[in-house]
Amino acid sequence: MIQGVAVLGSTGSIGRSTLDVLARHPQRYRVAALAARRDVAGLLEQCRRFRPARVALTEACAADSLRAALCAEGMESIEVLCGEEALDALAGDPQVSTVVAAIVGAAGLPSALAAARAGKRILLANKEALVSAGEVFMRTVEAHGATLLPIDSEHNAIFQCLAERGGRSLEEAGVHELILTASGGPFRGKRPEELAGVSPEAACAHPNWSMGRKISVDSATLMNKGLEVIEAHWLFDAPASRLRVVVHPQSMIHSMVAFRDGSVLAELGRPDMRTPIAHALAWPERIDAGVAPLDFLSLGALTFEAPDTEAFPCLALAYDALERGGRAGAVLNAANEVAVEAFLQRRIAFTAIPVLIRALLNEMGDGPVHDLSCVLEADAETRARAWARLERGL
Ligand code: NAD
Ligand code: MG
Repeated sequence: MIQGVAVLGSTGSIGRSTLDVLARHPQRYRVAALAARRDVAGLLEQCRRFRPARVALTEACAADSLRAALCAEGMESIEVLCGEEALDALAGDPQVSTVVAAIVGAAGLPSALAAARAGKRILLANKEALVSAGEVFMRTVEAHGATLLPIDSEHNAIFQCLAERGGRSLEEAGVHELILTASGGPFRGKRPEELAGVSPEAACAHPNWSMGRKISVDSATLMNKGLEVIEAHWLFDAPASRLRVVVHPQSMIHSMVAFRDGSVLAELGRPDMRTPIAHALAWPERIDAGVAPLDFLSLGALTFEAPDTEAFPCLALAYDALERGGRAGAVLNAANEVAVEAFLQRRIAFTAIPVLIRALLNEMGDGPVHDLSCVLEADAETRARAWARLERGL
């Protein structure tokens, strides 16, 4: 049977990689729905190519322009929705069995949750959803029998290395540690005083991966790895003490699992997101991702080093948030989103990013989370306070 797929965040880096894989397998997948924020030209091109039944743009005027453009090209049968709620409708669409959650930031949380409530197969790229609302999200997945598959490359690697785990706890499965690899980002090896003046362009020039701007800055600060530690905590039910980060600049090993008996399983591949996307789409089967085989003879050395926590304090902030629990994940994530945005707008220095996050974590980071409203409240309050602090000059 052909599976209907909704790609939320289809015009972004993960969205485009996903469509590239889907296009290789028309006999398995049909692109049923696409969504983005305001990229009319990008979505129009994807409509020409994939003819989805429904699309959504969250910005109303963008949706109007797309509707007009589709009519002009004879594609008026494609239904255009708009607004935040439209994302939920696409995520729960009965024609859709698989939802690719590839929106960036906490903006992707409601639709990822809607997919969970509808019991879909969810391919999760949007790590911020789990960082903000891990407990609520995992509970919803469980309660509605949804299937959650990670496409973040580290988590996809760990998922593959844990294939024999079944329903057992990490302890029962003999797991000693989950080892997340980090490239170290574009500023690896720089001293703290060299980082103050770095530009958004330099931060977004990642050595191994081509990604959206927000995650590129996160990779440069190492907050990306911090968010991933929290993501791994929720996905694999792993305590902080069993989550280790190792810098591996070549990005060929995507992550590893160390077992009690000394065995270590690793997943290797080219740094191309089409591999984890294809894995999660087809799991437990395997399909072609359009990625060339790894050539070991031209690979050279694989090296490893400890993360530099002095130059990159964000990783420690994420462990702090994980230890605090409750609303701390939502606060960490929201503060980081504001800090990254302010850095991209050249309002603050690169080194001010962890300063702002630490201040908000200390101010707002303690308190329980009972349900989604607690998460949304912590998120909104943190953003408001973060922008207010920036107005005052930190
Ligand atoms: P991107 O900036 O390239 O794309 C983001 C997409 O989300 C776009 O389609 C955009 O239109 C849409 N979007 C943004 N805000 C929205 C809103 N408010 N409502 C609706 N749509 C909105 O980002 P990306 O690099 O593709 O990353 C997407 C997610 O995947 C992030 O959570 C990121 O952390 C995660 N991720 C990305 C990579 C990668 O290689 N790019 C790897 C692992 C995980
Ligand atoms: Mg990753």
